Parts: sequence; C-alpha cells; structure tokens
Amino acid sequence: SVRVRYAPSPTGLQHIGSLRTALFNYFFARSQGGTFILRVEDTDQTRFDPRALQDIYDTFDWIGIHWDEGPDVGGEYGPYIQSERFDLYKEHALRLVEEGKAYKCFCSAERLEKLREEQSKQKGGHQGYDRHCRNLSSTDVASKEAAGEPYVIRFKIPLEGETVISDRVLGETRRKHKDINPDPVLLKTDGFPTYHLANVVDDHHMGITHILRAQEWVSSAALHVLLYKAFGWEVPEFVHLPMVMGKDGSKLSKRHGSTSVIDFRNQGYLPEALVNYVTMVGWGYDESTEFFSIQDLERVFSDGKINKAPGVFDYKKLQWYNSQYIARTDENRLVDLCLPYLVDEGFITRDARGDVPSDQLELLQSVMPLAKERMKLLSDIPSVAGFLFRDFTLNGAGDLVQKKQNPEDTKKILEQIRDDFTTIADLDEEGFHDYFQNLAESLETGMGKVMMPLRIAITGSRATPPMADSIRLMGREKALSRLETAIG
Ligand code: GLU
Repeated sequence: SVRVRYAPSPTGLQHIGSLRTALFNYFFARSQGGTFILRVEDTDQTRFDPRALQDIYDTFDWIGIHWDEGPDVGGEYGPYIQSERFDLYKEHALRLVEEGKAYKCFCSAERLEKLREEQSKQKGGHQGYDRHCRNLSSTDVASKEAAGEPYVIRFKIPLEGETVISDRVLGETRRKHKDINPDPVLLKTDGFPTYHLANVVDDHHMGITHILRAQEWVSSAALHVLLYKAFGWEVPEFVHLPMVMGKDGSKLSKRHGSTSVIDFRNQGYLPEALVNYVTMVGWGYDESTEFFSIQDLERVFSDGKINKAPGVFDYKKLQWYNSQYIARTDENRLVDLCLPYLVDEGFITRDARGDVPSDQLELLQSVMPLAKERMKLLSDIPSVAGFLFRDFTLNGAGDLVQKKQNPEDTKKILEQIRDDFTTIADLDEEGFHDYFQNLAESLETGMGKVMMPLRIAITGSRATPPMADSIRLMGREKALSRLETAIG
C-alpha cells in the first residue's frame, strides 16, 4: 500500500512551497488509502533551528492536517528524526565500502581547496573531486586509519553508462554518469550522513513507495537511483512537483511578497483558503472547479493531474479565495478569529480576567454578518467594523472630499444631510438609496459624492457595512454627533 513522506529540513520557517509539497503528499496518501509520514531531516546540525521544528508542528496544527506516523505520534518505522538514526546511516555507508561500492577518502580540506582553485583556473576542464582516494590500496587505507587520519566516505559513481529516472510527472529522463558530480560524500568526517545517504536509507527503511518532492531535487534523482541499486533495493516512484514561481517567472521568494506560512496566518488568511489555493498551484481537478475543501481533496486528488509546467503563485487570487471563504464561514468562528485584531489595534480592551466586555462582544457579533461580506483578510476587521468600538480622527476635509470635489460643496452636502437627519436616520437601505439619489439629482452631482462623505464622516472608513446598518449599529446619536464633528 502507498506510503509517502513529507521530509522537511528544520532550518527556517515553513515556506509556502513546502506547504504545497506536504499537502500533495497528504492528499495523495489519503486518496490512495495510504499512509502519510513526517520525517524530520536534521542531518545538517549546523543549520538546525529548534524554532523551525516547532514551526512545522504549529503550521500543520493550524492547517488541520495530521500525519499517521511521525516524531510526535510515533509509528512502527521510527525514530522519525534523522539525528536519532545516525548509527543506521553509518552502518549502511560502511556496508557499501565493504562491498567496494564506496570508499574512504582521506583528502584534507587543504588539498580539496587547492584542487578547486586549480580547476577554476582551467575553464571547461574537469570539475569536482578528482577521485584521488578511489584507488588507494587496502594497506594505504589501513595505515591511514591506524594513524587516526580523518576520512569521509564517498560513493563510487560508475565511470561509464547512464541512469534512467522515471518520474510520474516528468516522464523518463536519462543521466550520463560522467555528468554526475564525481563521487559524492555519503558520510562526513564527524560520522554524520549527508542528505543523499540519509534520505535514501530512510525512504527504503520506512517503506516509502512514492517520493513527492520539489523539482529542485530532480538533479539528485540519478544519484539516488544509483544508491538504491547499490544497496540492492527497489527504487520508489518519483513524483517531482512543478516549481512555485512569482508572476515574473522566477522562483517564489521574499521579493514577491510573504512566503512563510506563519506570515499568511498572521495577516488573517483562513487555513482552508490557503490549502485550497496552494493546492491549485500546479494541480487542477478540471478546467473549472475552484473550490475544494480538505475533505474533497482527500477524495479527488490524483497525481495524474499534477502539471509539468511551473505554477504561478498569485497573491491577488489567494486574497480572492480568502474573501470567498470568509464570507462562507460561520459567524461565531469569525468573531473568535477577528477579536485578536481588534484587541491588538486597541479597539477592544480585555478586562482584568482577559474577557471581552459583553456589550462589545455583542456588537461584534451583530456586525459580523455584514462585515464578513467585506473582508479580504481577517485583519481587515478594524477598518470594516472598528468604527463601532472607537472614535477616530479625520484628517480635515481631505478625508471627506471625493475626486474633483470642492471642500465647500462637501460641507454643504453634509449640512443638508444633517438637516434631514431626523427623517432619514431610520430609513432602510432602499430608503437611503432613494434619499441619496434625490439629493445627488438636486445638487446636480454624482451618488458617490453625496454618499461617501457621510460614510467617512460617521465611520472614518470607506469599507464599512451599508449605511442604514452602520447607523443602526452605532446608534443614531453617535452618528449625528460624528456628522456634526465632520462639518466642524
Ligand atoms: N529535506 C529535503 C527538503 O527539505 C527533502 C527532499 C526530499 O523530499 O527528498 O527539501
């Protein structure tokens, strides 16, 4: 049965591209009735960051997907953290040495450095390790070892021939052995494995059947295939995933915008919106279906529909998804999710026990059905509904005046509205519409020029719920006094 793994290296915050790799693995496992595994690849201890490990757990807790086996949940194939499996890697490296498929290399750092320097002088010449120790005699090796000389273990890349890599997305590719970087290190002087050794040993011992990973690893696939064969193991199926790039066609990076999952979380994206959109980058069910819940994807995901071509990560499209998901989300849940943004901005103050005053909570509950139609991000709540919780200061006429509008005209419009206020304050939305239409006609101006100044005068924002609702929620006295203040 299908067994797949997500194998992050905890060196930084979870990236949106890694999230996609994890999701594809997870959905592939679920759709196949298989097993999804988390394996932490922390062989590079110099780059290991415990916060990054915590971030992996936090991210997937928030996203709401869970692995069947992993460091925190256990499983039959553990441990699932590579730094706890070092003996296994060493044993395997030594086994290849015994079988003549790998060798101990005693070359010093100085020698290697000199080699690099010489090679960089001769353009087009041989690059990489010169296989100096590949043919050391066994007596040489024994005496160097006896003298306590440090060594690495290098893999013998065959000198001739080629390796065929079959990939379920990319098809079949071939790699000439002379084009593979000569004799990669499997085990370092300190006995730590390199990524290649640990990755292959674990994928075999953990019974991994399919390797879904970023396309940047495709260049390592030939080496991995050679390693599986050297050990006499079956090669898992490769599924290299299309690159995630920005709109300009380069790999998605900070230049394009946020890239870590935690940033999207803090900005007020819903996990289900992020999951839906990220899954659509490089995958599609058909030409038209856009909305998929996690449960849908667990059923319908298939690797056959993964694209070969890179996927564009479109921040605008993600925002659109988020606004759609917010509009569909249960209001009580939204109240909980939006509260922190209002507290952070100082719109709502918690009491000594950490509770939100009940009148404020009720106000937030009552505005939510209207607010949720107007938010792209949860963090939009202060601009959409903040006027209910706090007074604001306007920047004089500048805030009120519309394009090509004269401040004097704006003032007249607001005065007219104030004079009419007792009769209009209780109008419904349709009544307001008619009122503004008549007012605009009588003043020979546009609807926007009469409506927007009022909205801004009483809410301090352009993005608030409809006028009648806004006045009802804040109370007519407050609306009127804000209007007076704006007139000055
Ligand atoms: N630790 C590697 C990474 O972070 C895993 C690559 C693989 O899946 O083979 O990308």
